[in-house]
Amino acid sequence: MRYPEHLLKLIHVLKRLPGVGNKSAERFAFHLLTWSEEQLRELGTVVSATKAKLKQCEQCGCLMGDEGCLFCDSLKRDSSVLCVIASPRDAFAIEETHEYHGLYHVLGGMLSPLEQRGPDQLSLHKLKERLMNLQVKEVVVALDSTLEGDATALFLKQELAHYPVHISRLAFGLPMGSSLDYVDGGTLARAFAGRGLF
Ligand SMILES: [Zn+2]
Repeated sequence: MRYPEHLLKLIHVLKRLPGVGNKSAERFAFHLLTWSEEQLRELGTVVSATKAKLKQCEQCGCLMGDEGCLFCDSLKRDSSVLCVIASPRDAFAIEETHEYHGLYHVLGGMLSPLEQRGPDQLSLHKLKERLMNLQVKEVVVALDSTLEGDATALFLKQELAHYPVHISRLAFGLPMGSSLDYVDGGTLARAFAGRGLF
Protein backbone atom coordinates (compact mmCIF):
# COMPACT_ATOMS: atom_id res chain seq x y z
CA MET A 1 0.00 0.00 0.00
CA ARG A 2 1.51 3.27 -1.09
CA TYR A 3 1.28 6.44 0.98
CA PRO A 4 -0.26 9.57 -0.60
CA GLU A 5 2.38 11.76 -2.27
CA HIS A 6 2.34 14.55 0.36
CA LEU A 7 2.81 12.10 3.19
CA LEU A 8 5.70 10.45 1.36
CA LYS A 9 7.33 13.85 1.02
CA LEU A 10 7.04 14.52 4.75
CA ILE A 11 8.51 11.08 5.55
CA HIS A 12 11.36 11.76 3.14
CA VAL A 13 12.16 15.11 4.81
CA LEU A 14 12.05 13.61 8.33
CA LYS A 15 14.50 10.91 7.27
CA ARG A 16 17.17 13.59 6.87
CA LEU A 17 17.39 13.80 10.67
CA PRO A 18 20.22 11.78 12.23
CA GLY A 19 19.23 8.36 13.49
CA VAL A 20 15.80 8.51 11.82
CA GLY A 21 15.12 5.61 9.50
CA ASN A 22 12.01 4.63 7.57
CA LYS A 23 10.01 3.34 10.52
CA SER A 24 10.72 6.33 12.79
CA ALA A 25 10.04 8.81 9.99
CA GLU A 26 6.67 7.15 9.33
CA ARG A 27 5.82 7.27 13.03
CA PHE A 28 6.78 10.96 13.31
CA ALA A 29 4.85 11.82 10.15
CA PHE A 30 1.67 10.18 11.38
CA HIS A 31 2.11 11.86 14.74
CA LEU A 32 2.51 15.28 13.14
CA LEU A 33 -0.77 14.73 11.31
CA THR A 34 -2.52 14.71 14.70
CA TRP A 35 -1.17 18.21 15.53
CA SER A 36 -3.37 21.27 15.09
CA GLU A 37 -2.68 23.84 12.37
CA GLU A 38 -1.41 26.19 15.07
CA GLN A 39 1.04 23.67 16.54
CA LEU A 40 2.41 22.88 13.09
CA ARG A 41 2.87 26.55 12.32
CA GLU A 42 4.66 27.02 15.64
CA LEU A 43 7.08 24.19 14.79
CA GLY A 44 7.91 25.76 11.44
CA THR A 45 8.34 29.25 12.89
CA VAL A 46 10.52 28.10 15.80
CA VAL A 47 12.81 26.07 13.52
CA SER A 48 13.41 28.90 11.06
CA ALA A 49 13.65 31.60 13.77
CA THR A 50 16.27 29.57 15.67
CA LYS A 51 18.42 29.28 12.60
CA ALA A 52 18.00 32.99 11.80
CA LYS A 53 18.78 34.19 15.35
CA LEU A 54 21.87 32.09 15.98
CA LYS A 55 25.27 33.07 14.65
CA GLN A 56 28.67 31.45 14.84
CA CYS A 57 31.28 33.40 16.78
CA GLU A 58 33.86 34.74 14.32
CA GLN A 59 36.65 33.82 16.71
CA CYS A 60 35.85 30.37 18.05
CA GLY A 61 33.00 29.20 15.82
CA CYS A 62 30.69 28.40 18.76
CA LEU A 63 27.01 29.27 18.51
CA MET A 64 25.87 32.56 19.96
CA GLY A 65 22.71 34.62 20.27
CA ASP A 66 22.34 38.39 20.60
CA GLU A 67 24.25 38.34 23.90
CA GLY A 68 27.58 37.60 22.17
CA CYS A 69 29.94 34.65 22.60
CA LEU A 70 29.60 33.01 26.01
CA PHE A 71 33.24 31.95 25.85
CA CYS A 72 35.31 34.54 23.98
CA ASP A 73 33.54 37.48 25.61
CA SER A 74 33.85 36.12 29.15
CA LEU A 75 36.64 37.36 31.41
CA LYS A 76 36.26 34.24 33.54
CA ARG A 77 37.58 31.88 30.86
CA ASP A 78 41.24 30.89 30.75
CA SER A 79 42.48 32.00 27.35
CA SER A 80 45.75 30.08 27.69
CA VAL A 81 43.94 26.79 27.02
CA LEU A 82 42.14 26.11 23.75
CA CYS A 83 39.94 23.06 23.27
CA VAL A 84 39.62 21.97 19.64
CA ILE A 85 36.22 20.47 18.81
CA ALA A 86 34.62 19.29 15.57
CA SER A 87 31.23 20.99 15.88
CA PRO A 88 29.63 23.75 18.00
CA ARG A 89 27.49 21.14 19.71
CA ASP A 90 30.52 19.52 21.37
CA ALA A 91 31.11 22.66 23.46
CA PHE A 92 27.77 22.15 25.19
CA ALA A 93 28.61 18.53 26.05
CA ILE A 94 31.99 19.59 27.47
CA GLU A 95 30.49 22.49 29.46
CA GLU A 96 28.16 20.00 31.16
CA THR A 97 31.18 18.30 32.75
CA HIS A 98 32.27 21.53 34.57
CA GLU A 99 35.86 20.27 34.10
CA TYR A 100 36.92 22.78 31.50
CA HIS A 101 37.27 26.57 31.81
CA GLY A 102 39.32 27.52 28.76
CA LEU A 103 38.25 28.65 25.30
CA TYR A 104 37.07 26.58 22.33
CA HIS A 105 37.91 26.33 18.69
CA VAL A 106 35.43 24.72 16.30
CA LEU A 107 37.20 22.97 13.42
CA GLY A 108 34.00 22.60 11.44
CA GLY A 109 34.43 18.87 10.85
CA MET A 110 37.06 16.17 10.72
CA LEU A 111 39.27 14.89 7.93
CA SER A 112 37.37 12.33 5.91
CA PRO A 113 38.59 10.93 2.61
CA LEU A 114 35.24 9.16 2.14
CA GLU A 115 33.30 12.40 2.39
CA GLN A 116 36.05 14.25 0.53
CA ARG A 117 36.74 16.55 3.45
CA GLY A 118 40.34 17.67 3.48
CA PRO A 119 42.39 20.19 5.52
CA ASP A 120 41.04 23.10 3.43
CA GLN A 121 37.64 22.62 4.94
CA LEU A 122 38.84 22.84 8.52
CA SER A 123 39.21 26.14 10.36
CA LEU A 124 42.95 25.72 10.63
CA HIS A 125 44.25 29.13 9.62
CA LYS A 126 42.09 30.81 12.26
CA LEU A 127 43.27 28.28 14.85
CA LYS A 128 46.92 29.13 14.21
CA GLU A 129 46.13 32.85 14.32
CA ARG A 130 44.40 32.45 17.68
CA LEU A 131 47.27 30.40 19.12
CA MET A 132 49.55 33.35 18.58
CA ASN A 133 47.13 36.15 19.49
CA LEU A 134 45.90 34.55 22.69
CA GLN A 135 49.34 33.22 23.68
CA VAL A 136 47.86 29.77 24.15
CA LYS A 137 49.89 27.33 26.26
CA GLU A 138 47.81 24.18 25.86
CA VAL A 139 45.66 22.80 23.05
CA VAL A 140 43.24 20.07 24.10
CA VAL A 141 42.11 18.00 21.14
CA ALA A 142 38.57 16.81 21.96
CA LEU A 143 37.67 14.78 18.90
CA ASP A 144 35.77 11.51 18.58
CA SER A 145 37.68 8.32 19.20
CA THR A 146 37.13 7.15 15.62
CA LEU A 147 39.33 6.75 12.53
CA GLU A 148 38.37 10.25 11.38
CA GLY A 149 39.01 11.66 14.86
CA ASP A 150 42.40 9.93 15.09
CA ALA A 151 43.46 11.09 11.63
CA THR A 152 42.43 14.67 12.38
CA ALA A 153 44.17 14.66 15.78
CA LEU A 154 47.38 13.39 14.21
CA PHE A 155 47.15 16.00 11.48
CA LEU A 156 46.70 18.75 14.08
CA LYS A 157 49.68 17.47 16.03
CA GLN A 158 51.85 17.75 12.92
CA GLU A 159 50.47 21.13 11.91
CA LEU A 160 51.02 22.61 15.35
CA ALA A 161 54.40 20.98 15.99
CA HIS A 162 56.25 24.28 15.61
CA TYR A 163 54.02 26.25 17.93
CA PRO A 164 55.07 26.68 21.57
CA VAL A 165 52.06 24.77 22.92
CA HIS A 166 51.44 21.49 24.72
CA ILE A 167 49.02 19.34 22.78
CA SER A 168 46.89 16.91 24.73
CA ARG A 169 44.06 14.68 23.67
CA LEU A 170 41.07 13.24 25.46
CA ALA A 171 41.70 9.55 25.57
CA PHE A 172 41.16 8.06 28.96
CA GLY A 173 37.76 6.40 29.22
CA LEU A 174 36.80 7.05 25.64
CA PRO A 175 36.39 3.65 23.99
CA MET A 176 37.53 3.26 20.38
CA GLY A 177 34.79 4.19 17.96
CA SER A 178 32.98 6.49 20.39
CA SER A 179 31.61 9.83 19.36
CA LEU A 180 31.48 12.75 21.82
CA ASP A 181 27.77 13.03 21.06
CA TYR A 182 27.07 9.71 22.68
CA VAL A 183 29.49 9.69 25.59
CA ASP A 184 27.87 10.29 28.98
CA GLY A 185 28.88 13.28 31.11
CA GLY A 186 30.82 11.23 33.68
CA THR A 187 32.97 9.53 31.05
CA LEU A 188 33.65 12.84 29.33
CA ALA A 189 34.59 14.48 32.63
CA ARG A 190 37.08 11.66 33.35
CA ALA A 191 38.42 11.98 29.80
CA PHE A 192 39.13 15.65 30.49
CA ALA A 193 40.74 15.09 33.85
CA GLY A 194 42.88 12.29 32.41
CA ARG A 195 43.90 13.99 29.17
CA GLY A 196 47.42 13.20 28.14
CA LEU A 197 50.06 14.49 25.80
CA PHE A 198 50.16 12.61 22.55
ZN1 LIG B 1 33.68 32.71 20.62
